[in-house]
Amino acid sequence: MTNENIAAISTALSASGVAVLRISGDSPLNIAEKMFTPVGKTGVADFEPNKMYVGEIHADGFNDFGMCVYFKGPKSFTGEDVVEFHCHGGIAITKGILKKILSLGARLATNGEFTKRAFMNGKLSLSSAEGLIDMINSESESGVKAGYYLYREKLTAEINAMQDDITDVLAQIDADMDFPEEDLEQTSTVAVETTLKNVVEKIQALLKTYRTGRTLKNGVQVGIVGKPNTGKSSLLNALLDYDKAIVSDVAGTTRDIVEGSIDINGVRFNFSDTAGIRESDDKVEELGVTLSKRVLDQSDVILFVLDGSDITTADQEIYALVKDKNLLVAVNKTDKCDKKDERADIYVSALKKDNLDELKQMLFEKTIGSGVDLNGDFLCEERHFAALNKAKDKLIAALSSIGFVSLDILAIDIKDGWDALGEISGRTATEDIINNIFSKFCVGK
Ligand code: GDP
Repeated sequence: MTNENIAAISTALSASGVAVLRISGDSPLNIAEKMFTPVGKTGVADFEPNKMYVGEIHADGFNDFGMCVYFKGPKSFTGEDVVEFHCHGGIAITKGILKKILSLGARLATNGEFTKRAFMNGKLSLSSAEGLIDMINSESESGVKAGYYLYREKLTAEINAMQDDITDVLAQIDADMDFPEEDLEQTSTVAVETTLKNVVEKIQALLKTYRTGRTLKNGVQVGIVGKPNTGKSSLLNALLDYDKAIVSDVAGTTRDIVEGSIDINGVRFNFSDTAGIRESDDKVEELGVTLSKRVLDQSDVILFVLDGSDITTADQEIYALVKDKNLLVAVNKTDKCDKKDERADIYVSALKKDNLDELKQMLFEKTIGSGVDLNGDFLCEERHFAALNKAKDKLIAALSSIGFVSLDILAIDIKDGWDALGEISGRTATEDIINNIFSKFCVGK
């Protein structure tokens, strides 16, 4: 099979020290030969794999001085022959070099095409490719870790082991089908049941990690609510440490949802500060009120802010709306008033930045919890969660029908379970699933 040469800029297109362009296909070295003059004696055609060569890169209309490296397939990222140019990271420089590569016969790669080729060539599984996207897109340490678990094929290994166990069960059933009475031998029944139960338990253990894993990947949503002027925007600013929300003495100034994110113990916390919940005939503010109801529904935790110097029945009305949610009540403005409130979980001052670290820790406890090992392995992709659930259902159905259905019928449920597991690693994924995953990549990866 021939694979045309594809090319792309693999680094972000911006002024930077270095940029990398990548060509993958049948003959990237032929392209490099026509546009790279090494300083040393070795000609491009004789480049040793995995070795950097310094030289002149001839772009479209200008030259740059940089490096060229050749990776010989299958020992490359894509499994094909790959050439990389490392040039200076200017936008015009990088684009000019890409233009030259394309003029020499390579085609511009589509989103994720390098990784798709790697998958097609068996260099990584589908879940590993997904982990790679997660790592690239993650803005938090915990998101990177969750992606790395997938990328390094740890989930794939667990899935493959389960599939191997199921394959053994199917072989056992197949062997027993040769008996005329078409029923499982007593010893086989026990073995099949034990193995399937074991696999179901493993699946359930993985499924249990999903809620936390998803939070580690996407971050924790925190909705800040409270009546106008309690200091919500000030508190958000203090937490974010910069002036994003508008702070004003006029009650009801924060009309739009103001958002910002911080890391707490390596986990991303995304805050939404909303307009105070109150009756209003001001149209713009009404929109803010609707938005804050939306925030209420979408938040993992609600941070309810009270002004310690001005606690009124309006606070109680809001409290009634949020008291059944996962709630953290912060009484603000302790710098000017030390009044206690029975609803309070914590006392803070946005102005003096008092007790903010404690507030962050409390938010962490309320959402992630204290007993979670953030270095553990977590399921974080909805697609994997869905496939595992499907596999579990099929295997449980098979378990409950042992002895009641013929062996070939039993085998169908078990095989469906095997297939569902295979969707995760890509062994049984459809073309649609595969295309959908790679389309989420950026060009150049
Ligand atoms: P929001 O309407 O709830 O978002 O409240 P703002 O953040 O706009 O704050 C309303 C007013 O309270 C502003 O004048 C702030 O400077 C003031 N304020 C906010 N936090 C504190 C605080 O901790 N102490 C004091 N003394 N004033 C504060």
